[in-house]
Amino acid sequence: MLGNLVVQKFGGTSVGSLDRIEKVAKRVASTLRAGKKVVVVSSAMAGETDSLIDLAKGIMEFPPEREMDMLLATGEQKAISLLAMAITKRGYPAISLCGWQVPIVTDRVHTKARIERIGIQRIRNLLEEGYVPVVAGFQGITDEWEITTLGRGGSDTTAVALASALAADCEIYTDVTGVFTADPRIVPSARKLEMISYEEMLELSSLGAKVMQIRSVEFAAKHGVRIHVRSSFEEEEGTWIVPEEEVMEKVVVRGITLDTKESRITVVRVPDRPGIAAKLFKPLGEAHIVVDMIVQNVSHDGYTDMSFTVSRNDAPKAEEIVRKTAKVIGAKEVIRDDRVAKVSIVGLGMRSSYGTAAKMFEILSKNGINIMAISTSEIRISCLIDEKYGELAVRELHEAFIEEGEEIKVENHGEGKGKEGS
Ligand code: ASP
Ligand code: MG
Repeated sequence: MLGNLVVQKFGGTSVGSLDRIEKVAKRVASTLRAGKKVVVVSSAMAGETDSLIDLAKGIMEFPPEREMDMLLATGEQKAISLLAMAITKRGYPAISLCGWQVPIVTDRVHTKARIERIGIQRIRNLLEEGYVPVVAGFQGITDEWEITTLGRGGSDTTAVALASALAADCEIYTDVTGVFTADPRIVPSARKLEMISYEEMLELSSLGAKVMQIRSVEFAAKHGVRIHVRSSFEEEEGTWIVPEEEVMEKVVVRGITLDTKESRITVVRVPDRPGIAAKLFKPLGEAHIVVDMIVQNVSHDGYTDMSFTVSRNDAPKAEEIVRKTAKVIGAKEVIRDDRVAKVSIVGLGMRSSYGTAAKMFEILSKNGINIMAISTSEIRISCLIDEKYGELAVRELHEAFIEEGEEIKVENHGEGKGKEGS
């Protein structure tokens, strides 16, 4: 009965003006004409959420989070009503629904709530009666009838969760044509990926590729929702985010990212004793500061240098906290460097090939780029470098790993059959 159902989510730029809302309605109509049933999810019109936040900040710097949710939820409410009108005008009666009217039930964590369950009966009924449900992204309701929001970019999560609950396909319409091997503004030859696995997408998103909210990809991975990310403005196929087994092209490196939103903090001449790292990092954790890369140098005469990175927004606060600790533990000084960039290569194929890290380091060194810190996961290698070489590094790595990189032909389990054995 609900076969052929698709959830189509439209981001802020896709509904950024009346003209664009009409275009979205046109697209929805053409999907309906093709015989599919559609549930629409919409973000607020572009810039709306930001300006609502500005309004609140005009009253007070840290408004109560409950009131923020009350305010921010209006952005999506405005968009869905306009969109429902535009779809209805095209001859397909549409009904807009706020989160509470679905209902999309969340926990009580205001401004970053998580979806706990979705009641799908109302949407089912609407579909059966021939209506197009147009659901507000980003918002939900608690069991206590409080309005919540799901964190910035949360409409993606609404769409994925709805697709999962309705066993529907999920299309995310946005202002780019898909997920690219690198940022095309930095690497003009970057190409759109046909497919990418959840895990790779998660790594890319946490490294700053702003295609989808991280939580939505986590949700999709957990529930096996296949996502098609594509452009609202162009017809072409986008990128499918799918389970690992479904990704056809087996490459070592799927994508390359540049993150210029971190800062490095170095604590010079820390006494090298058990417990010192704990003393340094505990107050940062207590201040909710996430530490990313950590490097501890070899100890000389009982002292060592310790460097780590934090998000640039957190850097001033982190520096202040670390200065206090440094005094207590008798470190010599604390240096903060904002001019750093993290360049990363990501790919599932790294699990089954070797020499990848060596190749990355070699490319950086050939270009005279010094590595200040390294961190890795099973499918990612990140190097911290001087910010001024960031774009160069991405281009060089893209050329070597993606333009000249071959497909992995054999699954290598340590028998020396990797394509780039060194
Ligand atoms: N409107 C919200 C935001 O700007 C949610 C979203 O767009 O997904 O973050
Ligand atoms: Mg978005």
